[in-house]
Amino acid sequence: MTTIASNLQAVRERIATACTSAGRSVEDVTLLAVSKTFGPGAVREAHAAGQLAFGENYVQEALEKMADLADLPLQWHCIGPLQSNKTRPVAEHFDWVHTVDRLKIAERLAAQRPPERPPLNVCIQVNVDGGPTKAGVAPAEALALARAVAALPGLRLRGIMTIPEPAADFVAARALHAGARAVFDQLNAAGLALDTLSMGMSADLEAAVAEGSTLVRVGSAIFGGRPALRA
Ligand SMILES: *Cc1c(COP(=O)(O)O)cnc(C)c1O
Repeated sequence: MTTIASNLQAVRERIATACTSAGRSVEDVTLLAVSKTFGPGAVREAHAAGQLAFGENYVQEALEKMADLADLPLQWHCIGPLQSNKTRPVAEHFDWVHTVDRLKIAERLAAQRPPERPPLNVCIQVNVDGGPTKAGVAPAEALALARAVAALPGLRLRGIMTIPEPAADFVAARALHAGARAVFDQLNAAGLALDTLSMGMSADLEAAVAEGSTLVRVGSAIFGGRPALRA
């Protein structure tokens, strides 16, 4: 078994254990393999080990990888900050965008989604811990943005996404994820019928699953460490 294949298996086991502890079904949590900074060969290895969904942060890097891997039936998720001058290639080439944090971006994605493709799946990025430099809407603004995005043709609003600050331990991580869970529940209570709570990474996926995450975004635990600059 390659390193990537055995890392993937270990991550799947972590998710399964976390689901068991939380009394949840393992089918309710999707693993997104975050392949940013790693080349197409690493993605091929992960695909050979059964992984289909991949997350990328940098549009240009992602487009090159997609071209190289066009022979594989992969699902691509954009999880990086999105500037309005980059929305077109994202609307044309990705299956999901997790980082919608203002209406203007959503409107551009909707207008630029090719009509022959299925709607682009989107999540609203929510800044749950109020980090001042961080992307994402404040929890109090999430409902209004979600309603506006849900009304756009060409997009399918699936849920919310968060990147909380690294927490000291499981209890602290869980408290941050609980804040995201509360926003998710609020939006669903308002009738939005969301099915995706995108939260949890290599370091905190157990805490995220304990708080109801339905999609964990895992990079370094699968592919290894990244150069610090691009982390
Ligand atoms: C890089 C990244 C990840 C993966 O982080 P790891 O700690 O390597 O698992 C997840 N989500 C986002 C938004 C990222 O940028």
